[in-house]
This record gives sequence, C-alpha cells and structure tokens, in this order.
Amino acid sequence: MNEKKKRLFQKKITAYWHTDGRHHLAWRQTSDPWKLLVAEVLLRKTTSAQAEVVFEELSKFTAGDTAKMPIHELERMLHPLGMSKVKAEQLKEMAVKVKDADLDQMESDEFLRSIRGVGRYISNSVRCIAFGIPAPALDTNMIRIIERVFGWRSERARAREDKKLWQFAATLVPENACRQYNWGVLDFGAAVCTFRNPKCGICSLQEICDYYQKLAVQSSEQG
Ligand code: SF4
Repeated sequence: MNEKKKRLFQKKITAYWHTDGRHHLAWRQTSDPWKLLVAEVLLRKTTSAQAEVVFEELSKFTAGDTAKMPIHELERMLHPLGMSKVKAEQLKEMAVKVKDADLDQMESDEFLRSIRGVGRYISNSVRCIAFGIPAPALDTNMIRIIERVFGWRSERARAREDKKLWQFAATLVPENACRQYNWGVLDFGAAVCTFRNPKCGICSLQEICDYYQKLAVQSSEQG
C-alpha cells in the first residue's frame, strides 16, 4: 500500500481532530484506564450525550468502590441508558477483576481481554488513551473509513474479525499521536464520513479517497 497516502491520511485525520474533534467529551479528559473502561461500557448502544451524564456520576468511584457497590445502586445510576441490568453486571464484574490490577496489567492486552465484554477494540482504545500504545481502535467507523479511503475489501463476512484488516489498520496509527488519531477517526466518522450520505463535498480527504475518486470518474462519464 502507498506509504505516502498512509502518511497523508494520518496527517489529515489528526488535523481534523485538532480543528473539529469532540475535545469536550468527559472521557477524553482522563487517562485513567478504569474510567476509560467505564466509558466504553456506558457508550454501548447509546449516545455520547446520554452517556456523559452517567459517566460524570460513575467516574467518581474507583474500581474498588464499584466492586463493593450493591448491584441495585449501579442499576439505578445506569437506568437512563437502558440495558441497566446488563451494564450493571458487566461493570461490577469488570470492577472485581480490575480493582487489584497494577499498571502493568492494565497495559496488557492479554489482561484486558480476559475481562468479559472487553475485545480487541476496547483493549486497544484503553491502551492507546491511557498508555500511548499505538494500537488501532478499529470499530465500525474506522472500518468504513478504511474501506472507502483505501478501497479495502475484507475477505471475511464480519470485517471486524479480519486479521489482515487489523494488521493494516495498525500500520495507519502514528507512533507519537495515537490518541489524536483514534479520536480523530471516531469523530470524523460520526460527522463527515458517515454511514449514510457521507459529506464528500466538504471532506478534507477527497484527494486521497478511493471512494471519492470513483464518484468523480462516474460523474464525469455521465456528464
Ligand atoms: S471523500 Fe467521502 S467517502 Fe471519502 S473520506 Fe471523505 S466523506 Fe468519506
């Protein structure tokens, strides 16, 4: 794959983060791995705005406090997000596992992924934000953007399980700016390169995007 294009992609995504990223989100003000795990649980199937209110309340508690908290108390706090029973049980289980973990364990992909509900995406996201490890937070946004910009086609029915895609995504993460990059991709996918009706007309990635170049060729052929 064209290295120059990869570097330009990194540069444009991190530039997007600096100018348009959602810097204000509460979980972007912390590098505490426990709080980052809490945010990931809260964000499942809910909006950032809803999750933020609950995060403010729950992030006051350490993993040790949360492990001791009665489950009905956790459910009460999680109620506004829906799925409160499932999320409460998951948080409690996570807290029990994490409360005595040291920083070496929290930095370990193996340890994080031994926690129920933590897969490669959450592990990478937490290790990048908390410890600066250049690992890709490959979620549906990042997959969609990689497919469009680099013309990537997964051989797997579920692209998220494609090892080659994870390997490729890892080559795109800048060593010294993984946080800005992972956050940038997320925010860019939520606001510009959206699932439906991507805003190609105002996109800063036009010149390096395969999808955009194909659209341009098609419209010149039709016009
Ligand atoms: S040009 Fe369109 S498809 Fe390409 S990255 Fe931008 S918004 Fe996405």
